[in-house]
Amino acid sequence: MLVAVLKGSIPFLADMLREMTIVPLVDFMSISSYAPDSGRVRIIKDLDIDVSGRDVVVVEDIVDTGLTLAYLLGELRRRGPRSVAACALLDRAARRIVPTPVEFVGFEIEDLYVLGYGLDYAERYRNLDRVIEGDLEVLQGDPDAYVDGLYAG
Ligand code: 5GP
Repeated sequence: MLVAVLKGSIPFLADMLREMTIVPLVDFMSISSYAPDSGRVRIIKDLDIDVSGRDVVVVEDIVDTGLTLAYLLGELRRRGPRSVAACALLDRAARRIVPTPVEFVGFEIEDLYVLGYGLDYAERYRNLDRVIEGDLEVLQGDPDAYVDGLYAG
């Protein structure tokens, strides 16, 4: 059973599903982003399918500090699955705060802020068919800073 984490994992999940030659169950979870002062993340949308007794793979866009994934894995394990593993398109291990094993990694990346292929800044850029580097200072000044340039020419 694949448990995809909304919303950033959607393009990755869709491409991965089309390559799979088994028939997994697929479900979604949405959790609030981790705010250091809030103490912990919170489930906004929970699974519809019961994970107990199933082999579960969590599908993430990127694992950065590991706080989100660690929380999710802990939460899922409490529900009695047969196994739980993690799969991420991108792994930025250099910024890890919680040592969280990611069994299936697409690409390891250095300490760059990235956008596209599901990854957003202020809900923009998820639709890009590739991952690009974003300059956080530029985006903080104007969240739409890259919009015009992306499809020009
Ligand atoms: P973590 O809890 O591992 O620090 O962060 C996980 C979440 O933060 C990811 O699922 C993703 O939504 C967001 N995130 C972390 N790094 C980046 C990044 O470089 N670019 C974007 N757009 N989102 C990121």
